[in-house]
Amino acid sequence: MALRANARINLAAIERNCARLRARVGESALCAVVKADGYGHGAVQAARAALAGGASWLAVAAAGEAAELRAAGIDARLVVLGALSEAELAVALAADADVVAWSEPFVARLREHGASARVHLELDVGMGRLGTRDGDALLRVGELVAAAPRLTLAGVMTHFPSADADVELTGGQLDRFVAFAERVRGLAPAVVAHAANSAAALAIPASRLDLVRCGIAVYGMDPWGRDPRDHDLEPALELLSRVAAVKPLAPGQTVGYGATFAAREPIWTATLPIGYGDGFRRGFSGNGEVLIGGRRRQIVGRVSMDNVTVALGPEPDAAVGDVAVVIGAAGGERITAEEWAARIDTINYEITTALSSRVTWTYH
Ligand code: PLP
Repeated sequence: MALRANARINLAAIERNCARLRARVGESALCAVVKADGYGHGAVQAARAALAGGASWLAVAAAGEAAELRAAGIDARLVVLGALSEAELAVALAADADVVAWSEPFVARLREHGASARVHLELDVGMGRLGTRDGDALLRVGELVAAAPRLTLAGVMTHFPSADADVELTGGQLDRFVAFAERVRGLAPAVVAHAANSAAALAIPASRLDLVRCGIAVYGMDPWGRDPRDHDLEPALELLSRVAAVKPLAPGQTVGYGATFAAREPIWTATLPIGYGDGFRRGFSGNGEVLIGGRRRQIVGRVSMDNVTVALGPEPDAAVGDVAVVIGAAGGERITAEEWAARIDTINYEITTALSSRVTWTYH
């Protein structure tokens, strides 16, 4: 029995989340976004579960991520969303992944490469990141792709900056994108138009178009950082640790670096071997609870690289080896990635993708 942190992934939950998303988006196809190791859930396992749940496309950010999926035998339609160097382009094409283009020099490189490639044009409607804002220039890029014998103009895409926060702004951006996609259809009638992330797919029906690209919702987390159950989503990740030491603390005795916590009355503490080296953020120092024996236990003192300590109370009501639920449910209590995110003013995405390779992943 390992004491160190274990991420238990419920693949059936990922499958059910995808089935529900598919049902929600009607005619649109579902692309499961499995970048960043499947938002910390394991890209290969998450991809297989998503495909079993009805996703028909996968998306990653990096060429190496596409290669990893192919090496595992996953042959679904796959798009690399990120920018690619010469070397990365070769890796993406060797993985038979679709690629995203927005400049003429990139298309020239694609042609020089000589391989067949499926290309998506990216319009920037406000993210200010990848893609181009200049629709006329992007259409010329599309013409180059359409004219190249080995290239297929397969898609046209954008990514909304505020689908979770500003439906009106997103609506205007969607209108611009749809008008542009119509122009691209003039070049390639079968082009796949895609724009929606999880928030847009769930809340803005008009944004669903041919394909929705859902990440956070696939894993059962809430794009708005609220309760995933509001959207019938099941969190797929449980993060467990185990009690490594139980100790009494006399008044005045302290816990952790900087001695930031001192007992006021006699209490017992439990130390868990999980720390910021596992991705359990230092911002949780004195700022959060875990479940031991189905009850919430407050973190005391600073989170260190390898350990964190929690207060048990006046009695030593936990033993070495007992399970501590960091994310998950026990005894009618529930701690979510959204709760941790709110504590340090970040987003649930960052909580699960932060988990480091020292964590053990198991699947059920
Ligand atoms: N599309 C692109 C281009 C993205 O970068 C992301 C994730 O950041 C997604 C889709 C999925 O977004 P979400 O996880 O909010 O569904």
